[in-house]
Order: sequence, then C-alpha cells, then structure tokens
Amino acid sequence: MKKRVAILGSTGSIGTQALEVIAAHPDIFSVSVLTAGGNADLLIEQAVKFKPEEVVICNEAHYERVKAALFPFNIKVYSSASALVSVVESDHVDVVLTAMVGYAGLLPTIHAIKAGKDIALANKETLVVAGELITALAKQYNVRIYPVDSEHSAIFQCLAGEQDNAIEKIILTASGGPFRGKDRAFLANVTKAQALKHPNWSMGAKITIDSATLMNKGLEVIEAKWLFDLNASQIDVVVHPQSIVHSLVQFEDGSIKAQMGLPDMKLPIQYALYYPQRLKSDFPRFNFIDYPSLTFEQPDLETFRNLAIAYEALEKGGNAACIVNAANEIAVDAFLHDKIGFLDISDVIVESLAKIAFIGNPSIEDYVQTNEATRRYASEMIQVKV
Ligand code: NAD
Ligand code: MG
Repeated sequence: MKKRVAILGSTGSIGTQALEVIAAHPDIFSVSVLTAGGNADLLIEQAVKFKPEEVVICNEAHYERVKAALFPFNIKVYSSASALVSVVESDHVDVVLTAMVGYAGLLPTIHAIKAGKDIALANKETLVVAGELITALAKQYNVRIYPVDSEHSAIFQCLAGEQDNAIEKIILTASGGPFRGKDRAFLANVTKAQALKHPNWSMGAKITIDSATLMNKGLEVIEAKWLFDLNASQIDVVVHPQSIVHSLVQFEDGSIKAQMGLPDMKLPIQYALYYPQRLKSDFPRFNFIDYPSLTFEQPDLETFRNLAIAYEALEKGGNAACIVNAANEIAVDAFLHDKIGFLDISDVIVESLAKIAFIGNPSIEDYVQTNEATRRYASEMIQVKV
C-alpha cells in the first residue's frame, strides 16, 4: 500500500523538494492533496503530473483557471480557507506535510491531527505559536509529528534507538546567515537583496530573512522545546558556518551524537515521510577531505537580538511566542517591501511583546486573537515609522 501524502504549500521550496522525493519513489508514495497560495501555473503543472484527488488554490483569483485546467483529469479544485482545513481530513490522506509558511499552517495542522493524520512538520511557526496545544492534541489523537526542519530531523535521527536514555541537552547549529560577524552599524543599512543571499541554503523569502536575523534559530529553539519536551536551559545554539553538522544531542553520560551531511532538505523530508526506514538516494555525498575545517562559534545575541527575544518568549510561555511570531511575520514582510530597515525588525517584535496582553494559559481562540491583535498593532507601528 502506497503512503498517500497531502502537501500544504506544494509550490514552495519545501513543497517542490518533497515532490522530487515522491517522484523518485513512485512505488512508495502517492500524492493525494496539493495546495498553494498563489502560484497557479506551477500548481496545475504539479497536479497534472501527480494526479492528486484534491487541489486547493488559496488565492481565489486563480480558482476558475485551475478548475478548468484540472477538469479533464477529474481532480477536485477548491479555493477557500475552509477547504484548506478540510482537505487534510480526507480518507485518502495518510500523512500531511505542512510546507506552507507562517501562522497560516496552524488551523490546517490542528484539523489534520484531529482527523488522526500523521504530520511531517516543516511549518515551524505552528509549533512556535501553539506548541503546547499542538503537542497535547497529538498525544490525545495518537498522532506522530515528524520533524522536517533539518536541525530537528538531525536530533530526531540522533535519538533513534535512545528511547530509554534521557537527553541532557541538545545543540542546534546555525549557519549564522549572510551577516555573520557584522556589527549593528553595518546591519543598519543592509538591503533585502543582501539579506536574501543565504550562504548555504536556498529557501523561501520569509525563512531566508529569518536566517539573516537569527530569528529562524530562535523559532527553532521553541520548535525543539515542543518536539523533544525540553526546557530552555537544555537547548544550546552554536554557529557552524559550513552547515555540515546539522545538530547534536548530548546524553547524560556526556556522549554527544551528531547528524551530518551536505545541506539538502530532501534528506530530512524523506526521513520524515518514511520513518523509521531510510530510503536509498543519489544525493551528493559528504567528504571530510573537502572540508578540512568545520568551525563552531558563539552566536552574537547582542547584534542579533531576535535569538535572545525568542529565548525570552520561551521562558515566559503562554501566548508570548505567538506574539513574537506574529510581529516577526509582519516585520519581515515590511522589510521585504522596503518599508522598514533590518534592525527595525527586532524593535517591532520587542514593542509588540511589551504591548499585547499576556495570556498564561491560552485556548485556540486566544491564539487566534493574539495573532490578529499583534498583526494589527505591528502593522500600525510600521505605518507610523514610514
Ligand atoms: P516558500 O515561501 O518557498 O513556500 C510556501 C508555500 O506555501 C507556497 O507553496 C505558497 O504558495 C504556500 N502559501 C503561502 N502562504 C500561504 C497561505 N496563507 N495559505 C496557503 N498556502 C500558502 O516557503 P518554504 O521555504 O518552502 O518554507 C515553508 C515552511 O517550511 C516554513 O514554515 C519554513 O520555515 C519551513 N522550512 C523551510 C525550509 C527550507 O529549506 N525552505 C527549511 C526548514 C523549514
Ligand atoms: Mg532549520
């Protein structure tokens, strides 16, 4: 029986690489659902190739065109927020790959878990916003959450066979992004074009900016807390510019396990989709001789404040990380539209965290409202700045 995959965000960086993995293993996987935000041409192309049962194009302006193009293939086409949350519940879905970007992943993920579908989680923002709720739901519905993020996949791989052994701590590696070693005076004037040039990974725009500000690592610290049930003091970050050691686990006897390889998201994607088995691949192999020096350094939390802010939100708990995430999404979008400078991103987040009401024990509705209130507040703040 093939594993039937629903991909939320199939036209993005993770989504397209997931389809490459699936295309390389047609005997193992099939595609039952594809969804995209606005890239209708690519979505149509993917649907014609992979023949899913259902497709969602979130931007309604493209609905009629996608529907007409896929009509001859008997593929159902939808375009609404409610469709996005219901397609994941279909009987013909075994696992949902959440590869859309940002807060928009939260509700579909909740619905997928409640329908008993395993999750291959790329959309880290979902765990940042509501990690406590999501992990509790996964337990309640007996659903597994398989990490796709390369650092978390590395930790997950290091933990294979270690179920009886406690984790002393984990060490998340960070490339440091394009501005590693730079000071605030330099960062004050960087452009989005500079920030979009990641040294080791080719990814969507939002996560690339998050990598440049180190917010991506901050979000990953919070993601790791929920995936592996750790507290903040058990999660270290070390800058490793070569991106070969993808992350490490230290056990109580002092032993450290690392997972290594050339940077390629297809490996964590296929590990998440086919766990616990490894699939044979033809990805280029890592050779130690080509990398005589793998280096490690402290992150600079004073220059890259977002990482410190994420730790603060993690310590605070409640809806604090939801506020940080929403403010960051608005600020990154504003930076990508040349409305604010690179250093303003942290200011928007800090001010939002100070202003939006703290809720210690949030419900789903509280998260939804916190997200909306923070977006509104951060957007207004940016209007005043420009
Ligand atoms: P991307 O911008 O390349 O793709 C995003 C996808 O989501 C697209 O298909 C887009 O059409 C769709 N989408 C965007 N907004 C949507 C909305 N509101 N509703 C429905 N669909 C929407 O992003 P990406 O780089 O592939 O990242 C996706 C997720 O994976 C992010 O959460 C990111 O943090 C995470 N991630 C990505 C990488 C990577 O290498 N790209 C690595 C680790 C984690
Ligand atoms: Mg990562």
